[in-house]
Parts: sequence; C-alpha cells; structure tokens
Amino acid sequence: MSFPIHRLRRLRRSEGLRRLVRETHVRVGDLIAPIFLCDGEGQRQEIPSMPGIYRYSVDAAVEEAKLLYSLKIPAVLLFGVPHERRKDGVGKEAWASDGLVQKALRAMHEQVPGLVLIADTCFCEYTEHGHCGVLNAGKEVQNDRTLENLALTAVSQARSGADLVAPSGMMDGAVQAIRTALDTQGFTDVGIMAYSAKYASAFYGPFRDAADSTPSFGDRRQYQMDFHNIREAVRETELDVEEGADIVMVKPALAYLDVIRAVRESVHVPLAAYNVSGEFSMVKAAAKRGWIDEKRTALEITTGIKRAGADLIITYWAKDLATWLEELPAEPADKKKEAAEAAKRATKVVPAEAPKPPKPPKAPPQAGT
Ligand SMILES: [Zn+2]
Repeated sequence: MSFPIHRLRRLRRSEGLRRLVRETHVRVGDLIAPIFLCDGEGQRQEIPSMPGIYRYSVDAAVEEAKLLYSLKIPAVLLFGVPHERRKDGVGKEAWASDGLVQKALRAMHEQVPGLVLIADTCFCEYTEHGHCGVLNAGKEVQNDRTLENLALTAVSQARSGADLVAPSGMMDGAVQAIRTALDTQGFTDVGIMAYSAKYASAFYGPFRDAADSTPSFGDRRQYQMDFHNIREAVRETELDVEEGADIVMVKPALAYLDVIRAVRESVHVPLAAYNVSGEFSMVKAAAKRGWIDEKRTALEITTGIKRAGADLIITYWAKDLATWLEELPAEPADKKKEAAEAAKRATKVVPAEAPKPPKPPKAPPQAGT
C-alpha cells in the first residue's frame, strides 16, 4: 500500500527535517578556485564579462590566495595571461622559469603553505594564434610536437611548486608524456589532474575574455570534443586513467551532467567538474537584471554537479560559496510569523496562575464500552 501510509511531504515540513534527510552536500572542501595572473604589480584588473572575477598580478594573487585559504577553500587553479609581447608561435612563455604561473607557484608555495596549487598546463594563453599547441604549415595543431612542450611546461611547473599539473589542451597522450617527464626529473609526487573530457563549447566565451585566448583563426574542434558525444568522453577518461591521471575532469559541467554521471560510473579516480565561465556569467547577467536569484541558483547548479557525480568543483563562485554554504536557509517570513503567534497563544492558554479546572465527576462504570 502506498498513500495514505506513505506521505513524503512529512520530511519536507521544516528546514530541520529537510537538512536531516539531505542526500547531497557541496562542501567548501570540494572547491577549487581559478585564478588568472597578469603582469605588473598591485594589479587587480576587472574582467567585464565575469563580474567579481579579476586578473591579478602575482603579488595581488598571493593576497587573494591567502583570503581563499582563510575561507577554507583547499585549492587554486592558476592560469597565466602574459602580455602580448611575450606570446609567440609555440607558447614558450608557458615553460619559462620566470613565467607568471611559475612565479605565482613559488610565492604561494612559500606564503600560503597548505593551499593546494594546481597549474593549468596549456599554451593557448601563450601563443600568438591562441591555439593549444604547435601549428604545422597547414595551421593544424601538431599533437606529438605539442607533447614535447607539455612535458617541458609540466616539469617547470613542478619545479616551481605545483602539487598538480592540469593539461587542458586535449592532446592525445598528454598524460603519459607528462607522467614520464615528471618521473624522469624526480617529480614522482606531483600529480596530474587531466582535463579528460573537455568539449568544444560556447560556454567558454567569458573565459576567453579573461584569458585573452580566443583563437585568431578557426576554433578548437580538431582537438576538443564534439558536444554530441558521451561514449567518447568515457573512452577519453579511461585512456587518461591508464596513462596515469590522478584526477580526471569533465568540462563544462552544467550541460554535461550526464557525462559526469557516465564518467563517475566508469572510472575510480576522483572526478572534477569545471563549472565554466559561461555557466557563471549567464547567472550573473540575469541576476543583475533581477531576473534570477544568484545565490540560490549557484547553490542549485553546484549541488546538481555534485549530485551528478563530481567530487570536486572548479568554480568562479568558490569564494561566495564558502560563505553561502555556512548559512542556514531562513524559514519563510509567514512561517516565522506563524511560530510567533503560536508562542503567544501558548502563553495565553496556560497562564502561570490559572485556576485548576474542576475535576470531572466520576462517571459510573458503563458496561459494554
Ligand atoms: Zn589551451
């Protein structure tokens, strides 16, 4: 029998009951905050398409990292956005020992010990053409040539203090090339967070504004995944695990919850999901117009990502979530009023010196009741 014995609404009646039976929790400990790095000193440059997100010079980024760590956010993901004049055809700046990411890694390693430092390992922010690797004459990204540079970059980042390197260019064999290079150079403890299933996505628009990494020609569909595919995402992820990935990733997250679930069920390493710039900025834009409640929407989106199967969430809301997740949702105003009125009634009904009601007369025993 179902109804009326079973009434699922019983456990939804109050915030306390709802909290007790909640199945999914986003925790501050699940969050990774991306940080964009720029040249200069004392710089905190606004990114118009990502309200509340900035490009920081290394010194300012260290202060931001301290703040994030004080909010108990365990990890940051670093992207370097160097000046135009330091970009070239292959992205050499990516493995320069005085590159932005390398400098930030060293400073944060020293000044924010305990914070997990993850370095984005790619070339699109460092090449003049904005693609994620070395081009051939036909302007195609050369997979195997790019692997050599990925190895150089990962080793340089490890040497600067990265806990994890994060190859994001979707080159075949990237994880293996990086693992071999790290091990050969003695960095056996540095891990790899692989952007395993990274789709060519319209949701990256605002990020490209932030990272100044829009390709000058073409797009990235020759190496990033086609958004129509899910089995391929599982294959990509399984290959990365075989090659030695310590953490795998699905990117973007919101339109790919089914992919997160499929990957979660296929591999047994921690799974990160990248709640990307477009997912963030569209909520920001709608909230600014008063069309949507940013906090509630962000909590719902990130919880959905977690419920789909992600263990870690890379999100531009990391700092806000660190505060929001600590707050208890308020009971609605009418509920509060109701409770206050009930309390008032209760005091009226049982006044302190109320006369005791007379005892009811003893009824004679009745047969048959
Ligand atoms: Zn890239």
